[in-house]
Amino acid sequence: MANLLVTGGAGFIGANFVHYWRTHHASDVVTVLDALTYAGNPANLDGLSDVELVVGDICDTPLVEDLLARKQIDTIVHFAAESHVDRSITGPDAFVTTNVIGTHSLLKAARKLWLDTGTGRPHRFHHVSTDEVYGSLGPNDPAFSETTAYAPNSPYSASKAGSDHLVRAYHHTYGLEVTTSNCSNNYGPYQFPEKLIPLFLLNCLYGRNLPIYGDGMNVRDWLHVEDHCHGIEKVLQVGRPGETYNIGGGQELPNLTVIEEICATVDRAFAADPQLAQRFPDAPAARGQASDTLKTFVTDRAGHDRRYAIDETKARSELGYAPRRTFSEGFAQTLDWYLKNEQWWRPLLEKAAAGR
Ligand code: NAD
Repeated sequence: MANLLVTGGAGFIGANFVHYWRTHHASDVVTVLDALTYAGNPANLDGLSDVELVVGDICDTPLVEDLLARKQIDTIVHFAAESHVDRSITGPDAFVTTNVIGTHSLLKAARKLWLDTGTGRPHRFHHVSTDEVYGSLGPNDPAFSETTAYAPNSPYSASKAGSDHLVRAYHHTYGLEVTTSNCSNNYGPYQFPEKLIPLFLLNCLYGRNLPIYGDGMNVRDWLHVEDHCHGIEKVLQVGRPGETYNIGGGQELPNLTVIEEICATVDRAFAADPQLAQRFPDAPAARGQASDTLKTFVTDRAGHDRRYAIDETKARSELGYAPRRTFSEGFAQTLDWYLKNEQWWRPLLEKAAAGR
């Protein structure tokens, strides 16, 4: 039995991980530490009565030390972060504070409790990071491997790179048992509707423009969040301390292809279920029109990376990890979840419209 502390567990991937862990490791104890920023939502943990949510900041080292001691935590799975690239361009300070200083605060507390004054082993600090730390690829460049040099281009990716280096250093210098995973673009249930997939999906339902940065040919690897959780599970179970693992979805697609898939899937859903036209009368699909008529090209994001691609050979060979869905399958499941869980996303849209 393990005692997990999941930081950022009320956010998108963290909450999916908590649901995944409760399903697959029912005897483990799970505590969530989350500051409930705009991206954190206690409703993401609804239905998990045996998971304690502690509202607090990872930068609060005494609070983290207290939790590690009191709950006898042996495993930290660290998701908490400022995570939206666009926000990092307009307000980078919060990214340095949470992603760099916050991660260091957790590492300090873990070192103190697990190495200096605690029981020592076994313990694990797993750090969740991003493929964006590797920078941008040209069309024919090889995909990112774990040995690709870091070249972060946005304040977000630079702050994540800083946190990755600190995690590595705490292993090398102090012997803390750490692992890091660098994953590609996630999508799936509970994703805050500022990110591409839920934003475009909901815009299709409401007949709002689909704003496409630049020429729409930026390429990303798309990873269903449940496949990501499975990858983290593998790292926790068989990953070697001190190592990093790239986790991808094996689905390298230009944004335009992703958007066309979203539109086509929404159109098919409306054609199959006449009630959707009554629920969402402003959708083009409600009038038998194509959702992709909403596509609108807008000025590109500053410093927009052109291409990310993941070489997951190491995760496949060492961990036995493999993604279980294509993007088409994963997006169809995601659309189905959003259509069935309007009570989850409607308050978020209303809050955003009210400027809260
Ligand atoms: P998210 O923005 O949805 O959730 C982040 C969570 O962290 C929120 O619940 C928020 O309240 C919490 N948080 C923020 N600052 C905090 C602080 N100081 N103390 C405690 N909690 C705090 O992010 P996400 O998309 O779920 O991403 C989770 C992790 O995965 C991040 O580390 C991110 O860098 C990484 N990642 C995400 C993606 C993706 O596609 N979403 C891709 C690669 C890596």
